[in-house]
Amino acid sequence: MKKNRVGPKYNTKNGRKGRRKKERSIEEMRKSYLIKAIRKITLYWEPRKAAIKRQSIRGGSFQCEICKKVKQKGSRKVDHIHPIVPTSGWDSWDGYIERALCKEENWQILCTICHQNKSNIENDKRRNNKSNDEAFLFEI
Ligand SMILES: [Zn+2]
Repeated sequence: MKKNRVGPKYNTKNGRKGRRKKERSIEEMRKSYLIKAIRKITLYWEPRKAAIKRQSIRGGSFQCEICKKVKQKGSRKVDHIHPIVPTSGWDSWDGYIERALCKEENWQILCTICHQNKSNIENDKRRNNKSNDEAFLFEI
């Protein structure tokens, strides 16, 4: 049977779990749709493909750029060395597109563990600059 999901589960104020759709402004929706589209486009970006090829080892495995371990393709994450959204917060669409579709040198191949660690550090920094990020959202 198909599950009828409206949105992620949230803990409501009374402590019960419930589903509600997060309300978003038109600016937030537009930004979210465009980010998803640009992320998809990067999958076909030649410099990204070149980076994957560079770190691939025959037989479908690869070497993680950080831990240097040889891992199977299933745990491969293609990472932007300089993140698409800077840790200082959102800057501009021009900057976002330029970083998303970057040169081969800015791509690295990581294992899921190293990628997660890197992302956690970046997200912590972003969280500290969140007020900055929200201010930019409405300047687009
Ligand atoms: Zn690793």
